Amino acid sequence: MSAKYVFVTGGVVSSLGKGLAAASIGCLLESRGLKVNLMKFDPYLNVDPGTMSPFQHGEVFVTDDGAETDLDLGHYERFTHAKLSRDNNWTTGRIYEQIIAKERRGDYLGKTVQVIPHVTNEIKTAMKKVAHDVDVAIVEIGGTVGDIESLPFMEAIRQMRQELGREHTLSMHVTLVPFIAAAQELKTKPTQHSVKELLSIGIQPDILLCRTDRFLPKDMKGKIALFCNVAEEAVITAKDVASIYEVPLNFAAEGVDTLALKYLHIEAKDRDMHKWEELVQRVYNPKAEVTIGIVGKYVEYEDSYKSLKEALVHGALAHNLKLQVNWIEAEGLEAGGRAAEEQLQNYDGLLVPGGFGKRGIEGMLIAIRYAREKKVPYFGICLGMQTACIEFARNVVGLADANSSEFNPATPHRVIYKLRELRGVEELGGTMRLGAWTCKIEPNTLAYKIYGESEISERHRHRYEFNREYEGPLTAAGLRISGSTPDGTYVEMVELPDHPHFIGCQFHPEFKSKPLEPHPLFKAFVGAAYESGLSRRAEKESATVEMFHRPSRVSTQES
Ligand code: GLN
Repeated sequence: MSAKYVFVTGGVVSSLGKGLAAASIGCLLESRGLKVNLMKFDPYLNVDPGTMSPFQHGEVFVTDDGAETDLDLGHYERFTHAKLSRDNNWTTGRIYEQIIAKERRGDYLGKTVQVIPHVTNEIKTAMKKVAHDVDVAIVEIGGTVGDIESLPFMEAIRQMRQELGREHTLSMHVTLVPFIAAAQELKTKPTQHSVKELLSIGIQPDILLCRTDRFLPKDMKGKIALFCNVAEEAVITAKDVASIYEVPLNFAAEGVDTLALKYLHIEAKDRDMHKWEELVQRVYNPKAEVTIGIVGKYVEYEDSYKSLKEALVHGALAHNLKLQVNWIEAEGLEAGGRAAEEQLQNYDGLLVPGGFGKRGIEGMLIAIRYAREKKVPYFGICLGMQTACIEFARNVVGLADANSSEFNPATPHRVIYKLRELRGVEELGGTMRLGAWTCKIEPNTLAYKIYGESEISERHRHRYEFNREYEGPLTAAGLRISGSTPDGTYVEMVELPDHPHFIGCQFHPEFKSKPLEPHPLFKAFVGAAYESGLSRRAEKESATVEMFHRPSRVSTQES
């Protein structure tokens, strides 16, 4: 059987959760025994999001093959078993890059190169590539219908539907049905306009996923169906949720998968979502709370650390805990002393995540010192491992000027320096150490205890590395290098054996964590944080009880 396609487009406004919708459809189809793949087209002109500011774009998600991709691919991997690579995310920039290279080679044999058919052909080729060996390929188009930039992608969908026929292709449109407080009414007009826009491009949607804050009543569904030329059962309530892991279950309750299979003429087994049901049960019935402080360059803005936040949630769910995350702006800690301590003292665990540039580094070092000295569980990811090494070099080994050449190129003690393979490379796009690399873990280490394996593979995205010239003094003073590349070139993990839980990794484990398969490093960190929080609170309590009893003993003696 050749693959069938589900096209997911969005209307009215952005941020309606198209990526999550696509991922949830993938999840449901997998639960019916189908093999799926998912891809996203981003209509902007950057070749990839690698050089874009996280303010602009949110997190850059890294795949095993080292592609820097849109964060929706993170949702795809967390919700399904699809194996994603650079083939699963295309921007307009990358499509044009291919076409221009072909044109320069003379591949177009003297023809005029045009949007139709050359650009649309390139888009269709990319779509077909991900559809090999799967039952269903889910193709999401970024942006909103009506955007000038997304037109070639919409046109490619129209052509695919024309070529393959309706029973092989399905169009799902994610739209908004707002509740207008002044009128106390749900409004269908934005959806009508959005579908009209889609129709003007030649695409009749089959299923409408209507984002709302409440269930759509039957008559409202009927009205949308009538105006938008879809069946009433194909008007789906995509209600706001408190946990994203509810989305597949809500879609299931609305029968989205059953309908998709019907439209695509696919016979499949009954859905089995019991693991997700059990997961959502745990989301809403935690046994206790755990509080993690993330010390970053800036206070978090939506989406910039998507996978990290999710991975922490997975770690907490693994222990049946509710995660409380607070962002601590590193620069705000730089005064040090009591002021910094006050900001750091109420966390069960502290984490320094990945990051670039010098801003806030001194504050991160203060937080790491606090975690090390006060025995608060610490987890350093990429930049967080590098800063942990700098802190150790400065405050334990006594190399006061220790630094990374990223933050101070003139430092006499470059504990962290530019990756040797990148010396002389000045271009910024795609020039980091990217993607999956094998790491060998030393026996009798915390890392080994956590992974239970001596060889792992994790994803990277960095330009600087630990400088092995400092291995001697740092390890002599108590730092343990617990993971390295198999050839010993790169240091991948460090830890402190005389601390309950202090670990840093050069890679980004958050990219591989899934709700049903929490990453061991996150599970271990959140577990350690919870335990340490418990004993800290118990200590405090017994101190208070003692304080309470002492005066009464004194008074007894006096009497
Ligand atoms: N800025 C550091 C480097 O390039 C860390 C990168 C990161 O945390 N992803 O090596």
